Amino acid sequence: MDDEITILELKKILQKFKEDRNWGQFHDPKNLAEAISIEAGELQEKFLWRTVPGILEKLKNDKEYKKEVEDEFADIVIFCLNFANATDIDISKVIKEKIKKNNKKYPPEKAMGVSEKYNKLLLFINLQKRVSVKMLLLIELKKQFLIFFKKK
Ligand SMILES: [Mg+2]
Repeated sequence: MDDEITILELKKILQKFKEDRNWGQFHDPKNLAEAISIEAGELQEKFLWRTVPGILEKLKNDKEYKKEVEDEFADIVIFCLNFANATDIDISKVIKEKIKKNNKKYPPEKAMGVSEKYNKLLLFINLQKRVSVKMLLLIELKKQFLIFFKKK
């Protein structure tokens, strides 16, 4: 289905949905940003007090629960699309630009397997290097220790 409709087509469908109900008066950036946040909270509520393995199991085996999660996810995306319509944001353009920025902030050689924020990455790498040097020293010490006792 994702390959059957474009973002622009979705934006147009939502534009018509809004116009058919005269809801444009409510679709200002402040209201829509709040709506995105509220719907994100509703999505989080579906996971509240559950463990990640429990959530994954429920999503896999409980169709009603999965549908509820999908509905909350759809609410968020719909409000994001409405926000883009209300603020004349070209979604594809801004996402491509943001991915480009994130690629610079989080180059794979620094960010691989690390969840630190970009401004802490260098520090983390330095810490890893220091740990690595200590590990090498320890390995060398162990080798020398074994050689020393083998001679005796
Ligand atoms: Mg909702």
